[in-house]
Amino acid sequence: MDDILKIKAENEELKNINLVRSDLISISAHQLRTSLSASKWILKMFLDKDLGDITSEQENLLNKAYESTERMIMLTNEMITLNHTEDKILSFNFQDVDLVELLEQTIFEFYGESHKKEIELIFLKPSSILNKVSVDKEMIRVVFQNLVENSIKYSNIHGKVVISISQNEDEIDLSVRDTGITISNDDQKHIFEKFYRTENAKQKDAIGSGLGLYTTKKIVENHKGKIWFESDEKGTTFFITLPLNN
Ligand code: ADP
Repeated sequence: MDDILKIKAENEELKNINLVRSDLISISAHQLRTSLSASKWILKMFLDKDLGDITSEQENLLNKAYESTERMIMLTNEMITLNHTEDKILSFNFQDVDLVELLEQTIFEFYGESHKKEIELIFLKPSSILNKVSVDKEMIRVVFQNLVENSIKYSNIHGKVVISISQNEDEIDLSVRDTGITISNDDQKHIFEKFYRTENAKQKDAIGSGLGLYTTKKIVENHKGKIWFESDEKGTTFFITLPLNN
């Protein structure tokens, strides 16, 4: 009898280890993909001679770098879809973080991509200094990356993305507003589900995984925060609040 209980306990532990591993793969792959996409767009700008003339030797090398970046993006996409994220994200590493600085770094990564699509990327910096917040920096970076990435990905050419962050009493409020595609009423209740993608999103960007918002919500909730959105024909705004004291 004791042996059976022991095996059961070991089995449970193995299951848990597997869940954590699976989450880490998913989050890392997502983060890798976002950074790689930023590099890809910068390389594309050089190749398109947006930044001035290049020699044929430079073009040749830049093409190689562009193609290998594309291959890495494909690989991370496969990692994301093959990996089954389960409902547990553990191993958070909390530290005091300047969220304005983190947001600025994230926005910087997307300038190449927004420039390419001629999307105006506006950051409304708070007028006063915000308190540092105890968060897992790399996890919150994933949250910021996912929201900014989506706002550009689902925007039309010449669109506008406005990102703002402010402090209100005991919380930090963040919003990412875009002028892109609408999330219909029917789709709204499913948007945070794992692998869920709307039809209009699939048409705009065939490669997405439908894991970004699922992961984002899990991370925000693990920080005792909230995430929601509003969407109409003018565009979509995602909102996040994070408590100052976790
Ligand atoms: P992915 O972008 O890889 O499809 P996400 O989990 O990040 O996955 O998003 C899930 C779905 O939510 C998207 O496929 C899209 O249908 C919708 N969505 C997310 N962000 C936006 C946005 N800013 N505007 C319109 N639709 C969005």
